[in-house]
Amino acid sequence: MPTDYKLGTCKWCETVGEVFRDNMLCDDCDSNTVYCLVCRQRQHYESKCRHIFQSHGWAEWHGAGVDPNDEEMKVPFHRLLSAMGEDFAVDLKTAIRSGKFYTWIVAPMIGGGGSLYLYGMPDRDGRRMVASWGDVLIGLGEGQHADDLADGYHWLVSLHQRRTTKANRTTIAWIDQWLWPFARQGMAS
Ligand SMILES: [Zn+2]
Ligand SMILES: [Zn+2]
Repeated sequence: MPTDYKLGTCKWCETVGEVFRDNMLCDDCDSNTVYCLVCRQRQHYESKCRHIFQSHGWAEWHGAGVDPNDEEMKVPFHRLLSAMGEDFAVDLKTAIRSGKFYTWIVAPMIGGGGSLYLYGMPDRDGRRMVASWGDVLIGLGEGQHADDLADGYHWLVSLHQRRTTKANRTTIAWIDQWLWPFARQGMAS
């Protein structure tokens, strides 16, 4: 009987035993690690890079480093835009298109406070927004809908100004799709 396994050394943890034939990983490493396209190396969930994340609830791997055209993330990302509002969506598009958008987190992730900087976000009415938008996001992460917004948020922070160009294009397309109802309202009025 052919099997998916063979005896070998796991490529990640280097334990000798049953490993998958296709990727040479043991069961544990097959589910707990993923290859990041941005870093060009495999990441473990306990100490991973910023371009990948496990989805809320299903714990499946997503992010700019896993699939830059991930249609499954469109709805969660639109949910995040709906929570943040039109000004944010418009400015985010500007930031990503300028090639300057990336985020920087100081302290824990969503739900834990700290500071989040959204570089590339344009000023609004003479006000610097780099930290202000981050404060709004952190507020949402501490609110009652945090679980529903987690995937969209993690997608956003998986982006990088230069290294995730495909995912950046995907994100701009998603923003345009989300903004379209607003544009239509504008034309009708
Ligand atoms: Zn292993
Ligand atoms: Zn990475």
